[in-house]
Amino acid sequence: MALIYEQRALTRFWEKVEKTPSCWLWVGGLSKGYGIFSYQRKSLRAHRVSLSLVQDLLPEKVVCHRCDVRNCVNPSHLFQGSQKDNVQDMIKKGRGAKQNWTREQRKVFSESITGAKNPNSKLYPAAVQAMREIYKDKLLSGRKIALLFGLDHSTVGSILRHETWTHC
Ligand SMILES: [Zn+2]
Repeated sequence: MALIYEQRALTRFWEKVEKTPSCWLWVGGLSKGYGIFSYQRKSLRAHRVSLSLVQDLLPEKVVCHRCDVRNCVNPSHLFQGSQKDNVQDMIKKGRGAKQNWTREQRKVFSESITGAKNPNSKLYPAAVQAMREIYKDKLLSGRKIALLFGLDHSTVGSILRHETWTHC
């Protein structure tokens, strides 16, 4: 179900967008490179808001960028994917790089998927699901998943064996 915003909220939204011939750049506040739109005391991701104006967002999906420009809100550069698509996309990009990911890249990635600075304390069900799917599809070993998510190998092991996070 699409979110309905009042006209003045929409005006406020588009005032913060600078359209280039390709990307529509968010010139308002950013968090981790993503545009942030404050609405009803909530900080919404601007690219999510933008896509929600033209199509219904499914709650289990995440909004991904085709263009890899985090602050781009051009709906034609956005698509709804699963956490798994998102992770696979990241893995593909990581593999494409000459070297393995740096610590910083892993940190950013793990924060983007778990939404937490310390994933051990605040692991999101979507991240748990993504880990299990990656493992099931043999995309990465348990040890690599642990590295990617910035978690202990033993923590990931117990998640993959369904010893913890049994409810998802
Ligand atoms: Zn773009």
